[in-house]
Amino acid sequence: MSVEFIAPFKSPEKLSENLTLESTLKELAVFNFQVESSHLAKEVARLFQAHPLLPGVILTVDSEFLGMISRRRFMERMSRPYGVDIFACRPIMALYQITQTDILILPGATLIVMAAQRALQRSPEQLYEPIVVQLEPQVYRLLDVHQVLVALSQIHQQATWYISELYYNLSVTQSELEAANSQLKSANSELYRLANSDGLTQVANRRCFNQYLEKTWQELGGETAELSLILCDIDFFKTYNDTYGHQAGDACLQQVAQAILEAVNYSAGEVSGETLVARYGGEEFAVILPRTSPEIAVSIAEQIRVWVKKLEIEHINSEVCSLVTLSLGVASTVPRSSAAQKSLIAAADRALYQAKDAGRDRVILDAD
Ligand code: GH3
Ligand code: MG
Ligand code: MG
Repeated sequence: MSVEFIAPFKSPEKLSENLTLESTLKELAVFNFQVESSHLAKEVARLFQAHPLLPGVILTVDSEFLGMISRRRFMERMSRPYGVDIFACRPIMALYQITQTDILILPGATLIVMAAQRALQRSPEQLYEPIVVQLEPQVYRLLDVHQVLVALSQIHQQATWYISELYYNLSVTQSELEAANSQLKSANSELYRLANSDGLTQVANRRCFNQYLEKTWQELGGETAELSLILCDIDFFKTYNDTYGHQAGDACLQQVAQAILEAVNYSAGEVSGETLVARYGGEEFAVILPRTSPEIAVSIAEQIRVWVKKLEIEHINSEVCSLVTLSLGVASTVPRSSAAQKSLIAAADRALYQAKDAGRDRVILDAD
């Protein structure tokens, strides 16, 4: 009798380490148990007894594949009345012929998950029949459905673990990205602030003033609203530096800038647009007032003048009074051509010099 028997290739513990969604039937424990169909049924019965895990045997005729008989069908037939008497001493072929049923034959390259699906789609009476695995042409092995199901559950566990790992890694990467992103954002806004503010006084710088005037000019282009501009200049500031030193001069510039900012913010309710306070030059500041009439602009300029004076920064050598004071020039226009933008600045400058000429510490509105 030609019988080959190979125990499962791999132990179940080892299987769990290696099986993936891509694993095929080749990787599973496959029983190699072949019997020539001319052998007697009682010899097959002895083999089933000797190997309790064996799910069935492959039958051959002259070493060619004939079919398969499962342990369950074999035992069921033999346990019927007179079963042993009828079949035990007859070739297994006789028993095979009357128990013959459809056999599920799958190539060794079939995915385990697909094989499980195919096996479970069979009719209830065939559901637990072993699967015949064709490894190569004329090389067949047997596979217990139970083994396929165990493998499937291991694959499922592996896949779940892999997906949860993937989610974990994704969420880590995402939070790292978010942290980097927010760092970039704050670095960017810090860069923006540095690029647009004056280092000493922290109000907007001249570059920002130019951009903001241009932007506001474009925005108000189609409207009839006026745009007003205030230029403020500290009176006798050269003398201030000469009297108190350059460092005190710096501190004075900082205080004056903050006072202008506060005065403008205080009056913000009167302006229907975003105001901008900028350091225009050495000891000169500019205020852009969108949608603001000349009258309101003058009242805001006056507010600034009083606010700075109220700082009561001593200036004993000023020819105006013993405190730091401002002269302010105001101009207004309805934004149209870009040439008018330059004349607005020129008009405010003109008014400022008129304020200086008229005795300083005052507000003058350009007459044109
Ligand atoms: P006026 O009343 O006509 O405006 O006279 P003024 O002395 O204020 O004007 P002037 O233009 O003659 O002098 C401006 C002074 O401002 C000269 C310069 O040293 C000073 N200044 C400009 N920038 C700074 C600065 O960043 N820090 C300090 N401490 N002084 C500055
Ligand atoms: Mg000046
Ligand atoms: Mg000055």
